[in-house]
Amino acid sequence: MSLLTVRDLVVEFPTPKGTVRAVDGLSFTVDEGRTLGIVGESGSGKSVTSLAIMGLHDKAQVSGSIDLAGTEVVGADREKVRALRGRRVAMIFQDPLSSLHPHYRVGEQIAEARRLHFGASRRAAHKHAVQLLADVGIPHPDERAGDYPHQFSGGMRQRVMIAMALACEPDLLIADEPTTALDVTVQAQILELIARIQRERGLAVLMITHDLGVVARVADDVLVMYAGRAVEQATADELFAGPRHPYTRGLLGSLPRLTGPPGELTPIPGAPPSLLRPPAGCPFHPRCSERIDVCETTRPALQGAPHPAACHLLTIEKEVAG
Ligand code: SF4
Repeated sequence: MSLLTVRDLVVEFPTPKGTVRAVDGLSFTVDEGRTLGIVGESGSGKSVTSLAIMGLHDKAQVSGSIDLAGTEVVGADREKVRALRGRRVAMIFQDPLSSLHPHYRVGEQIAEARRLHFGASRRAAHKHAVQLLADVGIPHPDERAGDYPHQFSGGMRQRVMIAMALACEPDLLIADEPTTALDVTVQAQILELIARIQRERGLAVLMITHDLGVVARVADDVLVMYAGRAVEQATADELFAGPRHPYTRGLLGSLPRLTGPPGELTPIPGAPPSLLRPPAGCPFHPRCSERIDVCETTRPALQGAPHPAACHLLTIEKEVAG
């Protein structure tokens, strides 16, 4: 059953130089108990999408629909959105320090969220906070609850952030590049923790990342974004077995092999386009080695089987095969 349904989402930012359309007609669903990985380079619109779901875009014009567990987020008043945040949906970021208050003990911060949303007593909320710290693998949680954020290492701080996100038992956890700042070993541990929590609690998880390696470790389903749009949508198994879009293949080519001997890495040439003046036609065409004439003038639709992708080559292949 779908927990989150996003339909025709458009997020625009007015700037002195014109309007930046950061998300351009995005649709996807996240089912209960599943993990969707949204992957793309910086500027693809993936983080803007997650902030729209959290109702955190004060300066943006948001249209379309974001249905979270039966509640419409787009156009909802601030109080309604605030009630959803924390209670139904929680978010963890790349930098936990941006979300943790430096001058409060971590146990107090976790307990505070519980008290606020559940009306728990001080004592019950503290006990729950210590239990959460234990659940996310913080050694000596009773003592560590009394420490301040700066007394934790980067990986441990991310564990604290996850404990805080779980304090109100959300249905959906949004993780925005949660491991990007961590070294490889700690990164694997945090991804394993998120996967374990997802399994044990039956959470839905939205994993925002630039790294298909992260997607390979945790996601059931994948949405590949480029220039504010979905360019490919599939289950993780399908995507890794048969990527259909040249951009997805480019991302895979720049990914170190997860198993076996290291292969040659081929980064995608060029940079993502300016969203102030995106290229005509397929926005990936200036970087695409497979482009044909129509790519420069006509935007490809997201369509086709075995899973949808937005590329003219796929339509032509189908016509040739038909
Ligand atoms: Fe490349 Fe054209 Fe496909 Fe875009 S539509 S990805 S430019 S081949």
